[in-house]
Amino acid sequence: MIEIKNLSKTYGKNKNAVKALRDVGFTLPDKGFVFIVGKSGSGKSTFLNLLGGLDDVSKGEILVNGENICKLKPHELDNYRNYFVGIIYQHFNLFEEDSVINNIKIASDIAEHKANDDEISILLDKLDLKDKKESLVRELSGGQKQRVAIARALIKNPNMILADEPTGNLDSKTSKLIFNILKEVSKEKLVVVISHDVN
Ligand code: ADP
Repeated sequence: MIEIKNLSKTYGKNKNAVKALRDVGFTLPDKGFVFIVGKSGSGKSTFLNLLGGLDDVSKGEILVNGENICKLKPHELDNYRNYFVGIIYQHFNLFEEDSVINNIKIASDIAEHKANDDEISILLDKLDLKDKKESLVRELSGGQKQRVAIARALIKNPNMILADEPTGNLDSKTSKLIFNILKEVSKEKLVVVISHDVN
């Protein structure tokens, strides 16, 4: 379980200060599909960055299974980001000139969770990417790229997937497919999706 307590984030100081989050509090389950919806500038990305351990909080706590991640030592935070969290971005963040398989392998190398060929094969199958394995990312459609991004997040087998407007660049049919994949993933993991609208 994840408990968010009195979470605040202020960027800048004095008259340049921007209060992006003010005393936010709620609880997230261990698994399931959670949407955080709000208009642009309401603090959704800020929240996702804090939950993913990518930025410092100004005030408050993020308790992950009872442990406040805001107080972790640098190497503990690295472990949290590497093993607990998987992130999917709107703009995919892939190596466009490299192949699908290499993009997935690089993600598993960075996370220090060396995936074997069987694990990669199962994942490619699950995401319907098997016949695109050797294709360059730049040759793929938007939906296929987002499935590669999901594969990169899943290969390290994280407990939680954070997705920042994952269908923002996709048409509505492809968006539905991506949501169905994330819904499937959410049967076993916590999937937190931020969106300015719900498809
Ligand atoms: P959303 O994701 O809902 O569009 P953000 O979390 O990106 O909202 O932004 C919330 C507020 O914080 C906005 O006013 C934005 O301008 C501000 N903000 C976000 N990131 C920074 C930053 N790095 N420095 C200063 N202000 C920022």
